[in-house]
Amino acid sequence: MGPGPSDVSPRVLAAMARPTIGHLDPEFIRMMDEVKGMLKKLFKTENELTLPVSAPGSAGMEACFVNLVEPGDKVIVCQNGVFGGRMKENVERFGGECILIQDEWGTPVDVEKVKAAFAENDNVKALAFVHAETSTGVRSDAKSLCQIAHDNGALAIVDAVTSLGGIDVDVDGWGIDAIYSGTQKCLSCPPGISPVSFSDKAVEAVKNRKTAVPSWFLDKNLVMGYWGGSGKRAYHHTAPVNSLYALHEALVMMEEEGLENAWARHQKLHNALRAGLEAMGIGFLVNEESRLPQLNSVLIPEGVDDAAVRTALLQNYNLEIGAGLGNLAGKVWRIGLMGTACTQRNVMLCLDALENTLA
Ligand code: PLP
Repeated sequence: MGPGPSDVSPRVLAAMARPTIGHLDPEFIRMMDEVKGMLKKLFKTENELTLPVSAPGSAGMEACFVNLVEPGDKVIVCQNGVFGGRMKENVERFGGECILIQDEWGTPVDVEKVKAAFAENDNVKALAFVHAETSTGVRSDAKSLCQIAHDNGALAIVDAVTSLGGIDVDVDGWGIDAIYSGTQKCLSCPPGISPVSFSDKAVEAVKNRKTAVPSWFLDKNLVMGYWGGSGKRAYHHTAPVNSLYALHEALVMMEEEGLENAWARHQKLHNALRAGLEAMGIGFLVNEESRLPQLNSVLIPEGVDDAAVRTALLQNYNLEIGAGLGNLAGKVWRIGLMGTACTQRNVMLCLDALENTLA
């Protein structure tokens, strides 16, 4: 019950143990088509450029910025936790000019500040923000932020590493232009794969670049030779065959449950965890309307030794909860309720273990 990776179901682990066939084998290519189709449903998009990058969430992030940012491009980046800071690094490393908007950790991105930043800056190419900040447990208003980007002729780049599968992510409905996620949170797959999707407008922007994409591996023009349309698939890199078996199985499981049922399960069990924690006098860092059900940042009670409690939970109950990051270290615990780990049994275990340990 940490901030990810979450527990992987035995079904997904069993799928990973299947024989490793060739990444151009017709059976594997058939499976790739299924993965792509299921990812489109998960992202709620018709985007042709929807695929799993063969590397972790940070590579999905880098795939978005390396393809869309050229030297001199202005990008507004919203930072309200750790991962907005990583976005800023990406923009600057690819030669872009980063206009950074900062909000206090534990609060959502302030849409008024974003509107003001667009009013003060011309020719902004993109707005980038984290939908679900894993470092704080905050959900930002992705729909409104994408609207502001479009009102100002900019692309919307969204981090959905922790949101995808746990809360609504509506790529086409909100007009997201580039989005990346990770397999290790609410999809409950082993870490190491990053589903991404680019809108037609984003694809146009990549095609119209004045300079070559400075990464060979992440260049979307090249990787589409392997993951693109229904045409011939050509070698680009050796796909992580068994990790893709795992993703396929996790996506099948998501379809069996139903996406909306999965969101409802996360919300219901978050409510149960909250009720139990509040009964123990433990409060939340984040205001109720911006709380993520899958990542609960709770305030460590006065006088309690943070590390000692987490160690006791691990040793006595085989239960992991996450520590706070940055300024929140020692002040909060981050309790994950992600994917397969989001169960009634885990909620009860966590409440019982905390109550006994804090007594
Ligand atoms: N973005 C967010 C919001 C994350 O929580 C993480 C990882 O926890 C990442 C990006 C980076 O993903 P990875 O660690 O898989 O590279």
